[in-house]
Amino acid sequence: MVISRPPEVSVRRILDASIRLGNGSRVAVIGGGPAGSFFSYFLLTMASQAGMTIGVDIFEPRDFSQQGPPGCNKCGGIIYESLVQSLATDGICLPSSVVQQGISDYTFHTDEGSIRIKPPSDEKRIASVRRGGGPFGATRSLLASFDGFLLTLAEGKGARIIRERVTGVAMVEGRPYVTAQSGLSDQYDLLVGAMGVNSPDLKLFGGCATGYTPATTTKAHITEILLGKEAIDEHLGDSMHVFLLNIPRLKFAAIIPKGEYATVCLLGKDIDQALVDSFFCRPEVMSCFPAGWTPDSTRCRCFPSVTLGGAHGAFGDRFVTIGDCFVSRLYKDGIGSAYRTAKAAAQTAFLEGIAKRDFNKFYQPLCAAVASDNRFGKAVFTFTTLIKRLPFLRRGVMRMTGSEQGGFAAPRMSSVLWDTFTGNASFPSILARTIHPVFLARLFYEIMMGCVSSRNRANTRDGNGGWRAGKTIPRRGDDLPGG
Ligand SMILES: Cc1cc2nc3c(=O)[nH]c(=O)nc-3n(C[C@H](O)[C@H](O)[C@H](O)COP(=O)(O)OP(=O)(O)OC[C@H]3O[C@@H](n4cnc5c(N)ncnc54)[C@H](O)[C@@H]3O)c2cc1C
Repeated sequence: MVISRPPEVSVRRILDASIRLGNGSRVAVIGGGPAGSFFSYFLLTMASQAGMTIGVDIFEPRDFSQQGPPGCNKCGGIIYESLVQSLATDGICLPSSVVQQGISDYTFHTDEGSIRIKPPSDEKRIASVRRGGGPFGATRSLLASFDGFLLTLAEGKGARIIRERVTGVAMVEGRPYVTAQSGLSDQYDLLVGAMGVNSPDLKLFGGCATGYTPATTTKAHITEILLGKEAIDEHLGDSMHVFLLNIPRLKFAAIIPKGEYATVCLLGKDIDQALVDSFFCRPEVMSCFPAGWTPDSTRCRCFPSVTLGGAHGAFGDRFVTIGDCFVSRLYKDGIGSAYRTAKAAAQTAFLEGIAKRDFNKFYQPLCAAVASDNRFGKAVFTFTTLIKRLPFLRRGVMRMTGSEQGGFAAPRMSSVLWDTFTGNASFPSILARTIHPVFLARLFYEIMMGCVSSRNRANTRDGNGGWRAGKTIPRRGDDLPGG
């Protein structure tokens, strides 16, 4: 008797069937930050649309209503325009109880002066939010936590929140086995790593046998300053203040208005207290605070890690990492990266399968694109480092931006600065604009004019010389000093 071999397609279907999510499948998500919540939200939405029941357990020890670092995922809390739009498309509208303040524009500060850059459109679509329950010692009730809001969204879709830290991960008979701090342990069909990069537990993914190596990171700094609504309105307004100051190891810094508080973020290389102190000594920084204000040593602050690269061995059979755990955009839009990786991983898991080859085929390309974008990002941030270091370039950049904001020229430099710091455009597109001949010609012209005007000013020096730090650069036609 001849036994006929089943056709290849059927064999593949049988193999596939054993490594797909199906009715009654169970998924463990480690970490209920933005990545974990978005993943659960999208997976459960797709399952319910297909009439399927999938059990999702989100392990998250943090209580996002708590004040200070224990209740907070430590970040600047800027939700960029591109993410606000994507969320709206997915039917997720940030409620006013979560948005601390709408950001209307950016103000750039250098030692050559300050300048406001308006957004390409007049809508306020950049929001500042709080990740946790507000700074330590906040006496007034603050608005709701962004991370808490997302976790509630996922819970609303049917996710079970387990308020525990995961302490063990292993593959047992090819399936992920998760152990929590209390000893609770269970087997799942899929394990999703969404622990971010500030967790000491990333080494647990070693138990997934994919050779997981976390992304490279460096220390950043965040401090929360209580100024009161009136002082915020007067000194910061609705503007996000970005500082390009020539301080070693500091890439850039930002002051973000949030209701009664200002959140100060410092990004660079291994930020430490000495660097923070030198930042607060700068007149460009102090000019954003009320006269006589001094940094208070008891304020709520932290030194979280920020990602610089991507992780390796980030997925395998029945295992996938998302958000900072895998890859995030360089120095910006980390929450947007969490959203995009979480959504792509959820779509892959639900529609394609949960084998390594599925993640490799359908999920990896998105993450590879982020990693490749970051390589261009390094070149873009080299340009901002040059702006910080070279006074003639800084002057040229500020002059060029000033004339654009005054409506005298097309917003070439303004759009480069805007997109570099808002996460609105990809790094290659920003880089392409900076090497455009018209951009370079205009920058060269403004550098030359800047040199001439500073020489004239030196000749008629009034003691201070130059534009005063902290003052908005006068726009062309507004009686430019020496120019
Ligand atoms: C100084 C600074 C400023 C930033 N500013 C911005 C900004 O303005 N806008 C922006 O978009 N991005 C910003 N980012 C980046 C942003 O914070 C991250 O990209 C984003 O939080 C990543 O989300 P995630 O869910 O991957 O990780 P996380 O937000 O880190 O969430 C990880 C979660 O996992 C939980 N967890 C950890 N270990 C375990 C465990 N063992 N068991 C169970 N749960 C665990 C944690 O409690 C946490 O809730 C900033 C980052 C830094 C450092």
